[in-house]
Amino acid sequence: MDQKAESGMSRGNSNCTGTVVFLGPPGAGKGTQARLLARYLQIPHISTGDIFRENVGRGTPLGLLAKVFMDRGELVSDDVVNEMVRQRFRDPDCGKGFLLDGYPRTRAQAETLKEMLQHRGCESPVVVNLGVSYTEVVKRLSGRRICPICQRTYNLVSQPPRNDSACDDDGASLEQRPDDREEAIRERLASYDAQTAPLIEYYKKEGRFYEVNADRSPEQITDELMRVFDR
Ligand SMILES: [Zn+2]
Repeated sequence: MDQKAESGMSRGNSNCTGTVVFLGPPGAGKGTQARLLARYLQIPHISTGDIFRENVGRGTPLGLLAKVFMDRGELVSDDVVNEMVRQRFRDPDCGKGFLLDGYPRTRAQAETLKEMLQHRGCESPVVVNLGVSYTEVVKRLSGRRICPICQRTYNLVSQPPRNDSACDDDGASLEQRPDDREEAIRERLASYDAQTAPLIEYYKKEGRFYEVNADRSPEQITDELMRVFDR
């Protein structure tokens, strides 16, 4: 981690310990690592997936707007996402900082985030990018199986069922989602890369960017993250 990023968590405004932004493609283990690190740093883990579900579930005006995009199979617009995040930041648990998972997703969102942080008297975020190879992601995701009856999910490599390819709960034959086939995974990764490349470039220039090799085991990744933020 570079010098600026190292001191990033302890410098700055007293009511703002720090902001961490987590980036990583599907299969990098981003959600799991984000949750663990947030707990370790004692700051809330803010996932856009959770914020979307909550707003849509409660039928808030922003949730209804977001649903229009989602029903069309489109990405929710920057305006709507920014506003949802802005409202979440007002919650009392956000006083000391937060870890963002799934936001920002575009360069425009990153610029809005920077303004929001400046407004709160916080420094720019420390950005963690979980870098993982296509081969490793395909290995992880192509092992995913789902039970067509109870929807329980398994992974033939990391969470296999007791019997070969049958659900532990009801014995139904496990299935692979079309999304988890190798070709579909490669397409999702390529589109993630195309979308995220400008964001990564932006944060590298901002100077508090930290790349973690996420080809390794979850335990090794967690260890490295904790070491980095301890410094
Ligand atoms: Zn089942």
